[in-house]
Amino acid sequence: MKYYFPRSDDIIRTETVYGERGRIFDRNGKLLVGNTANYNLIFEYGSMADKRKDVNLALLDCISALKETQTTDYRAEDYFPLLGSYPNMRIKDSARNENTDIGHYYKRFLNKQKLKENITAEQLCNYFINKYKLWSELYSDSAIGELIRIYYDMERVDFGYYQNYTIAESIDPADPNAKALITMINEKSIEGANFIKQTERVYPYDTYAAHILGRIGKITAENVSQYEDYPLDALVGTSGCEAAFEEYLRGTDGKKISVYNKSGELIDEYYDPKPVVGKDVYLTIDIDLQIAAEDALREEIERLDYSEAGAATFIDPNNGDVLVSASYPTYSQNQFSGVEYYASLANDENMPLLNRAIQGTYAPGSVYKVGAALAALEGGFINSNTCYDCQKVYPYYDDDAPTCLGLHGEVNVSDAIKDSCNIFFYYVGDQNGLDKITPYTKSLGLGVPTGIELGERIGIIASEDYCKSTDRAWRAIDNATGAIGQSYHLYSPLQLSVYTSTVVNGGTRYSAHFLKEIRDRQGETVYTTETEVAEKVNFSSATHTTIKHAMSRVVDESTVLSRYFSNVDATVGGKTGTAQVSANSTLPDNALFSGFAPYDDPEIVGSCILEAGEQGANASKIVAAVFEQYFAEDIEPDA
Ligand SMILES: [Zn+2]
Repeated sequence: MKYYFPRSDDIIRTETVYGERGRIFDRNGKLLVGNTANYNLIFEYGSMADKRKDVNLALLDCISALKETQTTDYRAEDYFPLLGSYPNMRIKDSARNENTDIGHYYKRFLNKQKLKENITAEQLCNYFINKYKLWSELYSDSAIGELIRIYYDMERVDFGYYQNYTIAESIDPADPNAKALITMINEKSIEGANFIKQTERVYPYDTYAAHILGRIGKITAENVSQYEDYPLDALVGTSGCEAAFEEYLRGTDGKKISVYNKSGELIDEYYDPKPVVGKDVYLTIDIDLQIAAEDALREEIERLDYSEAGAATFIDPNNGDVLVSASYPTYSQNQFSGVEYYASLANDENMPLLNRAIQGTYAPGSVYKVGAALAALEGGFINSNTCYDCQKVYPYYDDDAPTCLGLHGEVNVSDAIKDSCNIFFYYVGDQNGLDKITPYTKSLGLGVPTGIELGERIGIIASEDYCKSTDRAWRAIDNATGAIGQSYHLYSPLQLSVYTSTVVNGGTRYSAHFLKEIRDRQGETVYTTETEVAEKVNFSSATHTTIKHAMSRVVDESTVLSRYFSNVDATVGGKTGTAQVSANSTLPDNALFSGFAPYDDPEIVGSCILEAGEQGANASKIVAAVFEQYFAEDIEPDA
């Protein structure tokens, strides 16, 4: 590296060099989120004219070019605190509210410029007129208004040597108006104006995996403190994996500095700072399985009369890789930035923006019986031969006696799982207390964080303590109904898959995760997620075999389920559930299914919940669709 000592009469030009944001891929290297070559029109401090009048004229040229080509309106309007046209302006009400973005920035601006908080619109205009020499004999009223708007925005984003000012964004060179703008700006050769590439995300799969991938957006007043070393106009991950893996994905623009001598010869050129390209994120998701799950989920919900929403999760029970995380209804990533489209999502009573797979919590219903059986066997409350007599009604409560859907007679634990007998589990819960069961189901994964990198809800473990903390009455009968997954239990669809995984893999609860690895732009792996054991749950191999076998009987000995799984090229085990949403609800029950395959050495676990889905078997269809595809993929196609 050569060192050059600048002379005072050197001419220094700076040019921003784009640092592209990293991309997001699925586990097989399929692109889920990429970038397009759009441009922002920016002003670079280091290249602007020296004289204020020249700067003002350059800005006005730029504005007129934008207007003439009807391209993107400059974006200052969103944050501009003044309303009306110069000289008749007043301060917007929203600017006086610090809790809005506009108000946050306005207050920050006033503090920084040491202006009074109760400044009038006229005083504010005069501040800009004096500072930027916007004398009325040189400029029209409308030009003064335009310049005040832009200078305000420049101050808002701390425009200066280290911070460019973006006057128009998302300029697509394929758009004829944009092309005209680019030509016009280049012809006028406005000092300081420059087009730079920027991150515009593209989503090849549009509605698929939308909840997982998330969005990028501007830094807002709420999260500004997290991004201290970012330029204020930076785009950052605001939700989903875009936010969770921001530290890897982030690219940072650099500056190319060119030094010319008095005669205009280039005498030095260097980067300060160098542009940094973001790293690529590889997720554990398999997009083909994700599509199979989302399609099956949508079809089944559309088929059902009352169901409007649901979720499905699939994980590898041997390491916690999340293969699928589906939430319905979903939304279009490509339309998301449209104001009307977003408003329709935000106001939709079915809450398409909610990621039900990790943020929805549901009563597990009879899926809970698997864990209750494991607790009863390991706690020594029963052995595998213990039988209880199901005569449809549990005989120990006079009023409001809980019942079974069938009349099963003498059943052991395997039969009770296979037939989903409630009476058997009422005995287990009622005689031992639910608090003897929940420590096991908690260890298996219900009501504890799964470890997933995105914000999740932990749910509720039904207990007397929970009731006390929420001023509700814990009744003796909750011990019985809690053992069949009713009472106060609420768990997420991802927790259900973690739970079933821990049962079928013999007691290792792995942390669930979306991040598989990070690669640099050259494709070199720079980080790999290590399999993490969250808890080792001790249970005997006899218990393991009894439960797994009972779960395979659930599928094998049911005509309906064995038909649904008939196209899966593996032996499947599982458990259905239905759960009442609330005592007052007129809607049908929620439907649940959690299953695994293959029987001998489980490779995939899947869980599905259909709100108002009526019967557990309906939820099993989504699991069947994904298992079918998963095991079909193993077959080598004929050459
Ligand atoms: Zn029964």
